[in-house]
Amino acid sequence: MDNQGMGTKCVQAGYQPGNGEPRQIPIIQSTTFKYDSSEEMGRLFDLEAEGYFYSRLQNPTNDQVAAKIAALEGGVAGMLTSSGQAANFFALFNICEAGSHIVSSSSIYGGTFNLISVTMAKMGIEATFVSPDCTEEELDAAFRENTRAVFGETIANPTLTVLDIEKFAKAAHEHGVPLIVDNTFPTPIHCRPFAWGADIVTHSTTKYMDGHGAAVGGAIVDSGNFDWMAHAAKFPGLTQPDESYHGIVYAKRFGKQAYITKATAQLMRDLGCIQSPQNAFYLNLGLESLHVRMPRHAQNGLAVAEFLASHPQVKQVHYPGLSGDPYFALAQKYLPNGSCGVVSFELEGGREAASSFMRRLKVAAIETHVADARTCCLNPATSTHRQMNDEQLAEAGIPAGLIRISCGLEDKDDLIADLRQAIEG
Ligand SMILES: *Cc1c(COP(=O)(O)O)cnc(C)c1O
Repeated sequence: MDNQGMGTKCVQAGYQPGNGEPRQIPIIQSTTFKYDSSEEMGRLFDLEAEGYFYSRLQNPTNDQVAAKIAALEGGVAGMLTSSGQAANFFALFNICEAGSHIVSSSSIYGGTFNLISVTMAKMGIEATFVSPDCTEEELDAAFRENTRAVFGETIANPTLTVLDIEKFAKAAHEHGVPLIVDNTFPTPIHCRPFAWGADIVTHSTTKYMDGHGAAVGGAIVDSGNFDWMAHAAKFPGLTQPDESYHGIVYAKRFGKQAYITKATAQLMRDLGCIQSPQNAFYLNLGLESLHVRMPRHAQNGLAVAEFLASHPQVKQVHYPGLSGDPYFALAQKYLPNGSCGVVSFELEGGREAASSFMRRLKVAAIETHVADARTCCLNPATSTHRQMNDEQLAEAGIPAGLIRISCGLEDKDDLIADLRQAIEG
């Protein structure tokens, strides 16, 4: 399977039924699993045997779907979480604790920014945010002796900046910590961050991976490349005995599986946040066509971005695949086959122009979602950021007239015609 193409992996990786077994992944809708003796069950509790005992920690349906995502990313192990938020929290908290510090790109999803800057700060984990465009020196200066991870998004939601993964990976490794990349927007079809030095990848599978707006979910994949023992003092959770499992040392006992095993055995055990097997089944249906859908999302995104860039009533367009975009060169390097379907743009005429534009749309719907089969639009100033006045919005880098459009899988001519009538109407 390792040598097979991405399309074959999308369709078949993770689950290979045996003779007479179901062709489609079975949904193991069971909270618990039966054993013949308490000794056998005990071996599971001691992490001595592989198997399932309780769906708060692990479920076979989830593991098969996680294995598919791990194969797509080229990683050694993966796990599903109940949401993208849970994935990013687990990915960081698995190697951070009170007193730790994170270096993060400032250009990340608002929910993740809040998670790191507010909620994890309350847990005693501090963060320094750096511009994705910072120099190597500026990036270097953000590290502290207690830094434990570097975080960024391949293509940021919603600013559409592109992360220079090699620059961030180099800095992380010079300081003996892993780079965690949220790869939600390009998906592994358009970028595989491990090939550029990232160590751990996260996803909001709610977006393109599910792709149909059906199920909220998240995923974490480990490349297996980061050597925890080489930086043992920084990562005691992986390199020191875990008393809650009779003194197991994850990095010694589980080798390249250590990071995901610890996240499952400790964080899932104590915090839950597992994806339901039913949602994992929906996610897998989406994954089966990911390689067919992503190119279409990116083609529609580029066609819409080009149309908008040529329209006199459009002030500005942000799309990394558009020549002239500040991130075009990085997109050419990291996303040579296309980026995603999300485009943001600003209309002349600010808040009022945006609001009447949105009202006139017929094909694109007004939603807070992005990255599914149906095109949708959002004007932050009149919705998610409604409480802010125009000056506050400008300070936050979100002009009142800014609109984010997520191009779905419809015909691009219909999308462009809809946008044209809504702009000109
Ligand atoms: C949506 C999103 C998240 C959060 O994911 P949920 O599934 O909504 O919890 C995290 N990162 C990025 C890049 C996202 O777009």
